[in-house]
Amino acid sequence: MRGGVIHHPQRIEEALALLAAEPEAMPIAGGASLVAMMNAGLVSAPALISLKAIPEAGFQVLADGGLRIGAMTRHYQSAESEHLGGTRACLRDAAGSIGNMPVRNMGTIGGSVSLSDPGADYPAALAALRAEIELRRVGRTRTVPARAFFTDWYATAREPDELVTGILLPAPHAGAGLYRKLARVSGDFAIVSVAVCISEAGAVSVAIGGAGPGPVFSEDVDAALSGGFAHDGAVAAAGERLAELADPVDDMRATAEYRRMVIPRLLVQAMRELRSGREALQ
Ligand SMILES: Cc1cc2nc3c(=O)[nH]c(=O)nc-3n(C[C@H](O)[C@H](O)[C@H](O)COP(=O)(O)OP(=O)(O)OC[C@H]3O[C@@H](n4cnc5c(N)ncnc54)[C@H](O)[C@@H]3O)c2cc1C
Repeated sequence: MRGGVIHHPQRIEEALALLAAEPEAMPIAGGASLVAMMNAGLVSAPALISLKAIPEAGFQVLADGGLRIGAMTRHYQSAESEHLGGTRACLRDAAGSIGNMPVRNMGTIGGSVSLSDPGADYPAALAALRAEIELRRVGRTRTVPARAFFTDWYATAREPDELVTGILLPAPHAGAGLYRKLARVSGDFAIVSVAVCISEAGAVSVAIGGAGPGPVFSEDVDAALSGGFAHDGAVAAAGERLAELADPVDDMRATAEYRRMVIPRLLVQAMRELRSGREALQ
C-alpha cells in the first residue's frame, strides 16, 4: 500500500478501537484477496488494520453444544477439523474446495465471509447449516443469521465499524452433510455449488452458491425435501424452484442460463450421494 499506514493490533479490543477511530481503514486478515485487489487497483484504503496477531483462530465447543469458529481460522484448519463432522461436513467440504493449498493456508473464514464473493464456497455451506455470523464493534457484540448476512453483490450486513469475529454453528445433529461445486478447473471459484445437510431424523437443509449475490435457499424447499429421502423427481423439482429463486449473471465462467440449468442436476447428484452414503452404512 503506497504511503499508507498499517496498524498491528495485538488484541481484538485494540483492533476495534482502531476501526472505531477510522472506519474507512480496511481490516486485513489472510490478505489472500485484499492484496490482489489492491495490487490490481480495485480497492484502496488510507490505512490497513492487520488482524494477523489477533488470537481469534480455532474451534471452541460452546456450553449448548454449538461451535464457535474464530474469524482468523484458516481454510486448511476448517478443511481438517474433527469438529466438522455429521451435518457440519458440508462446511469442511467447502473449506477443502477453496482455491489451492497456498490460498487455504493464507485465507480465513472471517475474511471470506466479509468479502462475500458470489462465487465463494463458505456462504452456501453456512446458509445450509443455519450458522450465525458474530460481529463486534466497540461496546457491542451481535450475531446475524448467515441466511440474512449476505445482502447483495460483495455486500454484507457488517457495519463499517464492525469486525467479523466468529462463526457460530448450532449444536450438531447426527446425520450427514456435503458440499459440491461445479468449477471450470480444480481450484477455481464455483460456477454453481450446492450445500446439503440431512439429519438422521430426516430434516433437510439446502443452499445454492454461485447463482446470485448470496446463497439461494428456501424454507419451503427444505420442508419439501425433509422427512425421508425424496426420489429424484421431487429433488429435481426442488432444484427447479431454487433455480427460479436464483439471480445468476453471465460472466467469464458461465452464462446465467447455464447456471440455472445446472442447479437441479447438482442437487439431484448431491442427494444421491448422501443417499448412497447412508445405504452403505446400513
Ligand atoms: C488464487 C485464489 C483462488 C481463490 N479461490 C477461491 C475459491 O475457490 N473459493 C473461495 O471461496 N475463495 C477463493 N479465494 C478467496 C480466498 O478464500 C480468500 O481467502 C478469502 O476470500 C479472503 O480471506 P482472507 O482472510 O485472505 O481476507 P483478506 O484478503 O485479508 O480480506 C478480504 C476482505 O475482507 C475484509 N476482512 C478480512 N477479515 C475481516 C474481518 N475479520 N472482519 C471484517 N472484515 C474483514 C478485508 O478488509 C477485505 O475487504 C481465492 C483467492 C485467490 C487469491
